[in-house]
Amino acid sequence: MRLTCNVEVLNRMLPTVNMKNKSKSAHTQLSIGKKPGSENLFLMMCTAKDRNGAKFVIKDNIEQVFARFVSEGKATIRVKEPPQDISISKADTLQLKNFLSVLRLGAQGKSLDNITLSRLAPASSKNVEKPKTRLIINSRKEYPLTTNFPSRLEFLQVSQCRLKKVDSRILKLHHLVELNLSENVLEILPEDFSNVPNLSSVTLAHNNLNIISPKFCLQSTLQNTLRFLDLGQNQLEILPLQICELQCLVTLKIDNNQLKYLPPTIGRLKCLKYLSAVGNKIETLPASMTQLQLETIDLYGNPFLQDIHNSLPDRFPDITLMECCARSIRKHRVKYTEEDLHSHLCRYLDSARLCWCGGFCFRCSVNFTTNLSLSRIAHTVSAVDQLGRTEVPLMSFLCSPQCLSRFQKNPYAYWKK
Ligand SMILES: [Zn+2]
Repeated sequence: MRLTCNVEVLNRMLPTVNMKNKSKSAHTQLSIGKKPGSENLFLMMCTAKDRNGAKFVIKDNIEQVFARFVSEGKATIRVKEPPQDISISKADTLQLKNFLSVLRLGAQGKSLDNITLSRLAPASSKNVEKPKTRLIINSRKEYPLTTNFPSRLEFLQVSQCRLKKVDSRILKLHHLVELNLSENVLEILPEDFSNVPNLSSVTLAHNNLNIISPKFCLQSTLQNTLRFLDLGQNQLEILPLQICELQCLVTLKIDNNQLKYLPPTIGRLKCLKYLSAVGNKIETLPASMTQLQLETIDLYGNPFLQDIHNSLPDRFPDITLMECCARSIRKHRVKYTEEDLHSHLCRYLDSARLCWCGGFCFRCSVNFTTNLSLSRIAHTVSAVDQLGRTEVPLMSFLCSPQCLSRFQKNPYAYWKK
């Protein structure tokens, strides 16, 4: 019975003689077992400094086990003699629960015949060394083919390895927080990130991505954790609407792609603070941009339209049944896949636009273009061309005759600020 975790030992007697505990949390292997030829059960604690380990008698010697935070991988074992508190953290929850239940049985002197106990041999260096949490691989030679990636990695960079797709072993690194796969030849992204529940930063710059699958954006793990996404220097012509469902996104970098539009629902990215879309083919921005409150925005080098001509129709187009259904599906965020709906209906749904009133519309709408000063939506604004312009055309859609007539009366009545 073994447990790998971090341990801090506090001596309860030291404060009574006015001394401070100086113990630091150390990577530790805890074991419960018997010495060969002995019947006494021990708790053994091995660290890199002390591989032979300190041993504590278990039977009638455990004063209390504090397990209130066991679901966070934390617990404290209060030993009677010597008077020490063993504070456990960063343990696997399930293993910790098992370990503590065996410890309790042992402390009460109950039979542990069915449990595999340790022989209390000194720990191997592999088991007590601090696990590797960062790894940078910058060439194919360094790429692990026959060995596994260290399982406790929190930061992983794999660059210049000509990766065509993401290695499935990477998607099983449960502790991964930052993943950088820039400078490869990735063409598609995997759709299952459910085994990397803490992933908050993904860098995919300088690859060959030409599509971001909606499924990538619709994963609940990424929707709840992803804060940084860099898709710069790829071949993207369109970003899926679903990218706006990545609700925690703070930084979005999409520089130097082939994008003609930003997603019309981009205003939904409520946490977005840093947006960079330099060197694309964007001619107008979607109206929902006005809902963003950014720190910085950089749209340099896009061919924004210079002359704006609006001609609004006198009459609003008739609303079709398909338009009605599509508006309802988007409004209520009804989930669908290509298997449920004919592909041309999916395309129709993908062409959603956002009216200034906040409602969705599709082809049964009228559009108009107006100028937006970028300083209305961001604190720090970069010019969009060499002339220093910071005004860009904003393409807006009107979803109903009411919205149309209100707009005609006062184009700024709907300005959401
Ligand atoms: Zn409207």
